This record gives sequence, structure tokens and C-alpha cells, in this order.
Amino acid sequence: MWIDTHCHLDAHEFGGESVEQAEKARAQGVGMIVIPAVETANFSIVAQLAASVDNGCYALGIHPIYVPNAREDDLRLLREQVEAALADPRFVALGEIGLDFFLPMLTEPAMREKQIFFFREQLKIARDFGLPVLMHVRRSQDVVLKHARQIRPNGGIAHAFNGSFQQAQAYIDLGFKLGFGGAMTFTRALQIRRMAAELPLEAIVLETDAPDISPSWIHPGRNSPDQIPRIGAVLAELRGISAQEVAEATSANARAVLLRMKVS
Ligand SMILES: [Zn+2]
Repeated sequence: MWIDTHCHLDAHEFGGESVEQAEKARAQGVGMIVIPAVETANFSIVAQLAASVDNGCYALGIHPIYVPNAREDDLRLLREQVEAALADPRFVALGEIGLDFFLPMLTEPAMREKQIFFFREQLKIARDFGLPVLMHVRRSQDVVLKHARQIRPNGGIAHAFNGSFQQAQAYIDLGFKLGFGGAMTFTRALQIRRMAAELPLEAIVLETDAPDISPSWIHPGRNSPDQIPRIGAVLAELRGISAQEVAEATSANARAVLLRMKVS
């Protein structure tokens, strides 16, 4: 059994076929798909989508790309919705939250500050409810680590990990797993492939980030959660172990951080 720890299954790119995509993935052995929210407007959408498939669960949070349009009041709403969602067994984490210092519109000083404010406030919500976080980290590894170290949510996943061994160790020390997906399927991605091959297997979880980060055999087409076994097979090859071992280990790792997740 496989777990896709990060999939934007509600994205418009799936053209209303989100449920079919989840079923297709399930037929390929993907027993669980974690669907993160990106803004308050899609909170109820990800919750409903997770409930309408056998293999769905979800997270609530405000993604850094949506921070420019977010208002402080959205944080109050998030806290309320998180508290209410604790009664829902399909709710598993805070996310997607983080810092993006790559996109030009997000890197002006005022917007950096606003991102950091929203990130810290969301880390506090996670901490207050004992929840793990799904983190978006882009050109911001050390700043993300600094705030996570100060506020200490209950672990989580550094999604689409693309840092150094030292940064990987810092996340591991904070109780995080590192998400690997389509990026490691490109032979030119030497650093990411080296990390995927050499980091402790206990630190790694798999993800698609679908519809984005498509693997080499689809690129630049739309990614989908049924690609997880083939992405996992690449990890198995890089590490010289069987796909079965990768499936078991990465699923156990996902469960070890997403403690509320119930896999049938
Ligand atoms: Zn994402």
C-alpha cells in the first residue's frame, strides 16, 4: 500500500474528475491521499472531497502563495475550523503553510513579513492543537527551520524537499519527514537523487503534489496521484531496495507523523 502525502486533488486542472482520479489511484494501490487546503475559500471543498472518496484525508491552512490576499481574520477562521475539524477523522494536519521566497510577488520586504506572520500564526495553531504541519519551503529552508524550532508544532512534512543534508537533519531533529516526488525522477536532479538515495529511509515520505511536479515520464503534463507507485519505484531503484520495501516504509513514515490518519 502506498500513500500520497501531498496532492491538490481539488485543483481545477482535474476538471471535475477528482473522485475518478482518487479511484484510479486506489486501483494502483494508493491507499491514502492527503489533500491540503490553500486558502479559506477551499477549506470546505477539500473536506468534502476527502469524505467523498475511500482513500482521502485533508489538511487546513493558508498557502504562502495565497497570503497576499489573506486577511488577519482568516487566521481566526482557520483556528475555528481546525477546532471543529477535530471531530472529523479525515482531518489530519495544518497545511499547506510555509514560506516562498522564490516568486517575485512574494519577496518584497512587506510581503516577506506578511508571509512570516501568517506562517508563525499557523504554526501556533498547529502547536495549540497538537497537530503536524504540511510545509511549503521554497528558497526559505533556514527561515522555515528557525520559526519551526521556535514554535514547535507536532512534527510534520517538509513537502517537495530540496535542501541540504544538514537541513534535512534539522527537520528530522524537529520530528519532520521529508517529501519526495516527481523531482527525483529526473536524472539531472543530482542533489535531490543523492538525498533520496542516502537519507535514512525512516525520514522519507512520498508525494505527487499533483497536478504539479510531474515525473519525467509525464512532464510537462498534468501529474496525478496514481503515479505514486511508479515514483516509489524510482526511489527503490535509487536505494537499491524493492518497491515493496519502499511502499511499506514510506507508508509507515507517513503514519508516524500524520497521527490522526486512518488508513483502511
Ligand atoms: Zn502543495
